[in-house]
Order: sequence, then C-alpha cells, then structure tokens
Amino acid sequence: MVSEIINKKQVGILSDFGFGKLINTGRIDTKALLEDYKYFLKRQNLIEKVSFEYDQLKNDKNKVEYKNIKAKKIVFCEGYGLVKNPFFNYLPMREAKGELLTIYATDLKIDFMIKSSVFVQPIGNHHYKVGATFNWKDKTCNPTKKGKQELEEKLSKVISVPYKIVAQSAGIRPTVKDRRPLVGTHPKYKNMAILNGLGTRGVMIAPWAANQLFHFLEQEKELDREITIHRYQNLFDI
Ligand SMILES: Cc1cc2nc3c(=O)[nH]c(=O)nc-3n(C[C@H](O)[C@H](O)[C@H](O)COP(=O)(O)OP(=O)(O)OC[C@H]3O[C@@H](n4cnc5c(N)ncnc54)[C@H](O)[C@@H]3O)c2cc1C
Repeated sequence: MVSEIINKKQVGILSDFGFGKLINTGRIDTKALLEDYKYFLKRQNLIEKVSFEYDQLKNDKNKVEYKNIKAKKIVFCEGYGLVKNPFFNYLPMREAKGELLTIYATDLKIDFMIKSSVFVQPIGNHHYKVGATFNWKDKTCNPTKKGKQELEEKLSKVISVPYKIVAQSAGIRPTVKDRRPLVGTHPKYKNMAILNGLGTRGVMIAPWAANQLFHFLEQEKELDREITIHRYQNLFDI
C-alpha cells in the first residue's frame, strides 16, 4: 500500500478521510475463466457435469474406480459440498454464505475498485458489483431480502449517487476456523485426496494450494504444515 493518504475527491464517493491506494492488485473474471476452462475440458472429453455418488466409489491400495473411470488417485474439490463427503466430512469446514448486488449507476465514474465496509467494483457499462455479506446460519444459495438490505445500508455510506439494483446473487464460502486450506490425503485411504477450505480467498490461494497438492501427490514433497489436513488428525480418530 502506498503510504500517503490521497485526499482528492471522487464524484459520488463519500470519502471524508481520503483514500489509501493499494498497489499490485488485479481482478480475475472468474465467470469467464470457469466457462472457458470448462469449454476447453469439454472439447477433450475431460469433464462431466454430474452429481458425484460417493457409494459408487471403489478404492484399494493402488487405484480408485468410479463407474467406468479407473485412476491411481482421486482429488475431491467440492467446496461446501464437503459436508456430504463421507470420507472427509470429519474436517471442520463451515459454510459462510455471501451475497452480492449488481448495480447500475451512471453518475459513478470510477475505473478502480473501492473497498470500505463493502467493495464497489466497476464491471463495465456503468455496472458495479457490490459485496459482500457474511452469514454462517443460512446454508442456501438463495439471495435474500436481508442480504440486500444490509448491502444497501452499507453502500449508502460509501456512495452518494442514485443507482438501480439490476441483480442479486449468493454463494457459499468453504471456510475453516483457522482460516487455512484443507489439503492432503485421507488418513486411511492414501489414494483419496482433498483440496478445500479455500474460504474467502479461493481465487488467490487455489493456484498455490493446487501446486502444493500436485507436488505432494506426484513427487512426495511435503505439504506446507499450515495447510495439511493432518493438523485435524485428532478429529478423525474420535
Ligand atoms: C460473495 C462471495 C465473494 C467472494 N469474493 C472473493 C474474492 O474477492 N476473492 C477470492 O479469492 N475469493 C472470493 N470468494 C471465495 C471463493 O469464491 C471461494 O474460495 C472459492 O469459490 C472456493 O473454491 P472451491 O473450488 O473450493 O469451491 P466452490 O467454488 O464451491 O466449487 C465447488 C464445486 O464442486 C461442486 N460439487 C460439490 N459437491 C459435489 C458433488 N457431490 N458432485 C458434483 N459436484 C459437486 C459444486 O457444485 C461446485 O461447483 C468469494 C465467495 C463469495 C461467496
């Protein structure tokens, strides 16, 4: 972060105390990334969109079999779906629901992201993403009136121009109490692995955590001790 406070006023932004500017930032368009990558895998017949049936998985020491697929190993990357995984649901993952608004505000003319009690992120054509909420009780992916109210209330303290809400969405973050990913192999079944617990920062952490898991599975390199699921071995033994 640049150390001086920027006091220049921005039209439509409430900034009594000025701005701090973050350096080395960026944005990944996850929707485009996932859609394109799915398309890439689909063309090579490497992806199927189906619900995984855990009781159909057969495993022995050297291989796993799932319906007509035979492999040396299986990696579960189910996000909050982990709660239904009979092999790994002993791990302490908690669902943290988050809601977002998309607003249309022609008077807001910023080409950078604002981060205050909510973030306001320009996505083009006078549209902005506003988020996000945290809710540990509601485990559904449905947008709610309460979420919308909370975001609007917070937004009223960040911008001062009129806007129209054009969309509302919700998702679940797979969070862990110690805020560390859940990576490693099952304590009993070494050919079953997991990559989860990416919490609020999956976009940032996933490439590094996936790389760690790859080297662990393929080259027997040790996992960073902060992410290995062995830290929760005691929960498996219960
Ligand atoms: C509102 C909100 C804002 C966020 N903002 C940011 C941000 O700014 N930066 C950042 O880095 N992160 C952010 N995150 C967090 C990020 O989205 C998560 O960390 C990330 O999505 C976790 O990735 P994942 O692949 O582990 O799980 P998921 O993205 O949940 O993906 C898991 C996939 O597995 C599928 N699945 C689960 N069970 C099964 C099954 N039995 N059979 C078949 N498929 C199954 C699910 O359908 C899903 O497609 C945000 C999250 C939310 C909700």
